[in-house]
Amino acid sequence: MSEIMVKEIFKSFGAMPVLKGTSLTVERGQVVALIGRSGSGKSTMLRCINGLETIDSGSIRVAGHELDGNPKKLRALRTDVGIVFQSYNLFPHLTVGQNIMLAPTIVRKRGADEARKAAVEALQLVGLGEKFDAYPDMLSGGQQQRVAIARSLAMQPKVMLFDEVTSALDPELTQEVLSVMETLARKGMTMVLVTHEMGFARRVADITVFMHQGKIWEMGPSQELFADPKTAEMRQFLSADV
Ligand code: ADP
Ligand code: MG
Repeated sequence: MSEIMVKEIFKSFGAMPVLKGTSLTVERGQVVALIGRSGSGKSTMLRCINGLETIDSGSIRVAGHELDGNPKKLRALRTDVGIVFQSYNLFPHLTVGQNIMLAPTIVRKRGADEARKAAVEALQLVGLGEKFDAYPDMLSGGQQQRVAIARSLAMQPKVMLFDEVTSALDPELTQEVLSVMETLARKGMTMVLVTHEMGFARRVADITVFMHQGKIWEMGPSQELFADPKTAEMRQFLSADV
Protein backbone atom coordinates (compact mmCIF):
# COMPACT_ATOMS: atom_id res chain seq x y z
CA MET A 1 0.00 0.00 0.00
CA SER A 2 1.20 3.52 -0.75
CA GLU A 3 2.59 5.52 2.17
CA ILE A 4 0.57 8.64 1.31
CA MET A 5 -2.77 8.55 -0.49
CA VAL A 6 -4.50 11.87 -1.01
CA LYS A 7 -7.66 11.56 -3.06
CA GLU A 8 -9.64 14.43 -4.56
CA ILE A 9 -9.32 16.74 -1.60
CA PHE A 10 -11.12 20.06 -1.46
CA LYS A 11 -10.27 22.73 1.09
CA SER A 12 -11.60 26.28 1.38
CA PHE A 13 -10.81 29.03 3.82
CA GLY A 14 -14.12 30.84 4.18
CA ALA A 15 -15.40 31.41 0.68
CA MET A 16 -11.96 30.97 -0.88
CA PRO A 17 -11.22 27.57 -2.39
CA VAL A 18 -7.55 26.72 -1.88
CA LEU A 19 -7.33 23.04 -2.85
CA LYS A 20 -9.61 22.03 -5.69
CA GLY A 21 -9.73 18.31 -6.07
CA THR A 22 -6.07 17.51 -5.44
CA SER A 23 -4.80 13.93 -5.53
CA LEU A 24 -1.34 12.66 -4.74
CA THR A 25 0.08 9.22 -4.13
CA VAL A 26 3.53 8.72 -2.64
CA GLU A 27 5.15 5.31 -2.38
CA ARG A 28 7.33 4.26 0.53
CA GLY A 29 10.82 5.70 0.11
CA GLN A 30 9.78 8.19 -2.53
CA VAL A 31 10.78 11.84 -2.42
CA VAL A 32 8.25 14.30 -3.82
CA ALA A 33 8.90 18.01 -4.30
CA LEU A 34 6.00 20.48 -4.37
CA ILE A 35 6.77 23.63 -6.31
CA GLY A 36 4.66 26.55 -7.46
CA ARG A 37 3.96 30.19 -6.86
CA SER A 38 3.21 31.66 -3.49
CA GLY A 39 -0.47 31.10 -2.73
CA SER A 40 -0.84 28.05 -4.95
CA GLY A 41 -1.76 25.83 -1.98
CA LYS A 42 1.52 24.01 -1.26
CA SER A 43 1.58 24.62 2.49
CA THR A 44 -2.12 23.85 2.81
CA MET A 45 -1.52 20.56 1.04
CA LEU A 46 1.27 19.60 3.49
CA ARG A 47 -0.80 20.70 6.47
CA CYS A 48 -3.73 18.57 5.27
CA ILE A 49 -1.44 15.55 4.92
CA ASN A 50 -0.64 15.55 8.62
CA GLY A 51 -4.06 16.68 9.76
CA LEU A 52 -3.15 20.24 10.75
CA GLU A 53 -6.02 21.36 8.51
CA THR A 54 -9.33 19.58 8.13
CA ILE A 55 -10.49 18.91 4.60
CA ASP A 56 -13.96 19.69 3.21
CA SER A 57 -14.11 16.52 1.12
CA GLY A 58 -11.90 13.82 -0.28
CA SER A 59 -9.79 11.33 1.64
CA ILE A 60 -6.32 11.16 3.12
CA ARG A 61 -4.46 8.10 4.31
CA VAL A 62 -0.88 8.37 5.56
CA ALA A 63 1.38 5.67 7.03
CA GLY A 64 -1.63 3.38 7.35
CA HIS A 65 -3.81 5.92 9.20
CA GLU A 66 -7.02 7.18 7.63
CA LEU A 67 -7.84 10.79 8.48
CA ASP A 68 -11.54 10.43 9.12
CA GLY A 69 -12.13 12.76 12.05
CA ASN A 70 -11.32 10.13 14.66
CA PRO A 71 -8.97 11.90 17.14
CA LYS A 72 -7.18 8.65 18.00
CA LYS A 73 -6.24 8.07 14.38
CA LEU A 74 -5.21 11.70 14.04
CA ARG A 75 -2.81 11.35 16.98
CA ALA A 76 -1.42 8.12 15.56
CA LEU A 77 -0.88 9.77 12.21
CA ARG A 78 0.84 12.82 13.73
CA THR A 79 3.18 10.53 15.66
CA ASP A 80 4.24 8.83 12.44
CA VAL A 81 4.51 11.97 10.32
CA GLY A 82 7.16 14.60 11.06
CA ILE A 83 6.78 18.13 9.76
CA VAL A 84 9.47 20.82 9.68
CA PHE A 85 8.72 24.45 8.91
CA GLN A 86 10.70 27.48 7.87
CA SER A 87 10.77 28.67 11.50
CA TYR A 88 12.42 26.09 13.73
CA ASN A 89 10.73 27.03 17.04
CA LEU A 90 13.21 25.40 19.38
CA PHE A 91 12.64 26.11 23.07
CA PRO A 92 15.38 28.62 23.95
CA HIS A 93 15.54 27.65 27.63
CA LEU A 94 16.17 23.97 26.84
CA THR A 95 19.37 22.47 25.48
CA VAL A 96 19.47 20.93 22.05
CA GLY A 97 19.28 17.47 23.61
CA GLN A 98 16.32 18.42 25.82
CA ASN A 99 14.49 19.92 22.84
CA ILE A 100 14.90 16.68 20.94
CA MET A 101 13.99 14.39 23.85
CA LEU A 102 10.77 16.23 24.69
CA ALA A 103 8.33 14.68 22.21
CA PRO A 104 9.71 11.13 22.33
CA THR A 105 9.42 11.24 26.14
CA ILE A 106 5.93 12.76 26.29
CA VAL A 107 4.27 11.42 23.14
CA ARG A 108 6.06 8.13 22.58
CA LYS A 109 6.51 7.62 26.35
CA ARG A 110 10.12 6.57 25.96
CA GLY A 111 12.27 6.19 29.05
CA ALA A 112 15.05 8.76 29.58
CA ASP A 113 17.87 6.46 28.44
CA GLU A 114 16.08 5.41 25.30
CA ALA A 115 15.05 8.98 24.48
CA ARG A 116 18.62 10.16 24.99
CA LYS A 117 19.98 7.44 22.72
CA ALA A 118 17.48 8.32 19.97
CA ALA A 119 18.31 12.02 20.36
CA VAL A 120 22.05 11.40 20.05
CA GLU A 121 21.52 9.26 16.96
CA ALA A 122 19.26 11.86 15.35
CA LEU A 123 21.80 14.60 16.10
CA GLN A 124 24.60 12.54 14.60
CA LEU A 125 22.53 12.00 11.48
CA VAL A 126 22.24 15.77 10.97
CA GLY A 127 25.95 16.22 11.68
CA LEU A 128 25.59 17.85 15.11
CA GLY A 129 26.54 15.04 17.43
CA GLU A 130 28.68 17.38 19.53
CA LYS A 131 25.87 19.92 20.17
CA PHE A 132 23.74 17.86 22.58
CA ASP A 133 24.33 20.22 25.52
CA ALA A 134 24.41 23.48 23.57
CA TYR A 135 21.58 26.02 23.78
CA PRO A 136 19.80 26.96 20.55
CA ASP A 137 21.02 30.57 20.56
CA MET A 138 24.62 29.34 20.42
CA LEU A 139 23.91 27.79 17.02
CA SER A 140 23.66 29.26 13.52
CA GLY A 141 20.30 29.30 11.74
CA GLY A 142 21.35 26.34 9.64
CA GLN A 143 22.37 24.38 12.73
CA GLN A 144 19.09 25.23 14.47
CA GLN A 145 17.14 24.02 11.47
CA ARG A 146 19.16 20.79 11.51
CA VAL A 147 18.26 20.40 15.21
CA ALA A 148 14.60 20.89 14.26
CA ILE A 149 14.98 18.09 11.72
CA ALA A 150 16.69 15.90 14.33
CA ARG A 151 13.83 16.64 16.72
CA SER A 152 11.40 15.24 14.16
CA LEU A 153 13.61 12.25 13.37
CA ALA A 154 13.89 11.28 17.04
CA MET A 155 10.18 10.42 16.88
CA GLN A 156 11.10 7.80 14.29
CA PRO A 157 8.56 9.01 11.75
CA LYS A 158 7.56 7.01 8.70
CA VAL A 159 7.03 10.14 6.63
CA MET A 160 8.73 13.54 6.75
CA LEU A 161 7.18 16.75 5.44
CA PHE A 162 9.29 19.87 4.88
CA ASP A 163 7.78 23.29 4.23
CA GLU A 164 10.35 25.69 2.80
CA VAL A 165 12.82 24.79 5.51
CA THR A 166 15.66 26.75 3.91
CA SER A 167 13.78 29.91 2.91
CA ALA A 168 14.98 31.94 5.89
CA LEU A 169 18.63 30.87 5.56
CA ASP A 170 21.65 32.37 3.82
CA PRO A 171 22.92 30.38 0.84
CA GLU A 172 25.78 28.61 2.65
CA LEU A 173 23.50 27.60 5.52
CA THR A 174 20.88 26.49 2.99
CA GLN A 175 23.36 23.99 1.56
CA GLU A 176 24.05 22.28 4.88
CA VAL A 177 20.32 21.81 5.49
CA LEU A 178 19.70 20.54 1.95
CA SER A 179 22.54 18.11 2.38
CA VAL A 180 20.88 16.68 5.52
CA MET A 181 17.65 16.27 3.56
CA GLU A 182 19.52 14.55 0.77
CA THR A 183 21.07 12.12 3.27
CA LEU A 184 17.59 11.30 4.57
CA ALA A 185 16.31 10.78 1.05
CA ARG A 186 19.18 8.41 0.28
CA LYS A 187 18.44 6.47 3.45
CA GLY A 188 14.98 5.77 2.08
CA MET A 189 12.81 8.19 4.06
CA THR A 190 9.44 8.94 2.46
CA MET A 191 9.45 12.71 2.03
CA VAL A 192 7.28 15.49 0.66
CA LEU A 193 9.01 18.85 0.49
CA VAL A 194 7.91 22.29 -0.54
CA THR A 195 10.95 24.10 -1.89
CA HIS A 196 12.19 27.04 -3.93
CA GLU A 197 15.43 25.18 -4.56
CA MET A 198 14.74 24.00 -8.09
CA GLY A 199 18.18 22.40 -8.50
CA PHE A 200 17.60 20.35 -5.38
CA ALA A 201 14.11 19.28 -6.46
CA ARG A 202 15.41 18.25 -9.85
CA ARG A 203 18.33 16.29 -8.49
CA VAL A 204 16.92 14.72 -5.32
CA ALA A 205 13.15 14.39 -5.73
CA ASP A 206 11.89 11.34 -7.60
CA ILE A 207 8.71 13.19 -8.51
CA THR A 208 8.11 16.91 -8.79
CA VAL A 209 4.62 18.35 -8.56
CA PHE A 210 3.90 21.82 -9.92
CA MET A 211 0.90 23.34 -8.17
CA HIS A 212 -1.04 26.21 -9.65
CA GLN A 213 -4.21 27.81 -8.27
CA GLY A 214 -4.92 24.93 -5.92
CA LYS A 215 -4.50 22.21 -8.48
CA ILE A 216 -1.78 19.84 -9.51
CA TRP A 217 -1.01 21.43 -12.83
CA GLU A 218 1.83 19.15 -13.88
CA MET A 219 3.70 16.32 -12.26
CA GLY A 220 6.19 13.67 -13.24
CA PRO A 221 9.70 12.32 -12.73
CA SER A 222 11.73 15.40 -11.76
CA GLN A 223 14.36 15.18 -14.49
CA GLU A 224 11.73 14.93 -17.23
CA LEU A 225 9.46 17.57 -15.77
CA PHE A 226 12.19 20.20 -15.48
CA ALA A 227 13.67 19.34 -18.86
CA ASP A 228 10.36 19.61 -20.66
CA PRO A 229 7.55 21.45 -18.86
CA LYS A 230 4.32 21.04 -20.79
CA THR A 231 2.29 24.03 -19.62
CA ALA A 232 2.84 27.75 -20.14
CA GLU A 233 2.23 28.28 -16.39
CA MET A 234 5.07 26.03 -15.34
CA ARG A 235 7.42 27.42 -17.97
CA GLN A 236 6.64 30.90 -16.77
CA PHE A 237 7.14 29.87 -13.13
CA LEU A 238 10.53 28.36 -13.89
CA SER A 239 11.72 31.39 -15.80
CA ALA A 240 10.62 33.94 -13.14
CA ASP A 241 13.18 35.00 -10.53
CA VAL A 242 11.58 33.55 -7.42
P1 ADP B 1 1.61 28.37 -0.67
O1 ADP B 1 2.20 27.57 0.43
O2 ADP B 1 1.65 27.70 -1.99
O3 ADP B 1 2.20 29.75 -0.73
P2 ADP B 1 -0.75 28.34 0.98
O4 ADP B 1 -1.23 26.96 1.03
O5 ADP B 1 -0.03 28.87 2.16
O6 ADP B 1 0.08 28.58 -0.36
O7 ADP B 1 -1.99 29.31 0.76
C1 ADP B 1 -2.93 29.15 -0.28
C2 ADP B 1 -3.99 30.21 -0.11
O8 ADP B 1 -4.72 29.95 1.08
C3 ADP B 1 -3.43 31.61 0.01
O9 ADP B 1 -4.29 32.48 -0.68
C4 ADP B 1 -3.48 31.87 1.50
O10 ADP B 1 -3.62 33.22 1.78
C5 ADP B 1 -4.70 31.08 1.93
N1 ADP B 1 -4.61 30.58 3.31
C6 ADP B 1 -3.69 29.71 3.79
N2 ADP B 1 -3.90 29.44 5.08
C7 ADP B 1 -4.99 30.17 5.45
C8 ADP B 1 -5.73 30.32 6.68
N3 ADP B 1 -5.38 29.64 7.78
N4 ADP B 1 -6.79 31.13 6.67
C9 ADP B 1 -7.15 31.81 5.55
N5 ADP B 1 -6.51 31.71 4.37
C10 ADP B 1 -5.44 30.90 4.31
MG1 MG C 1 3.72 27.99 1.76
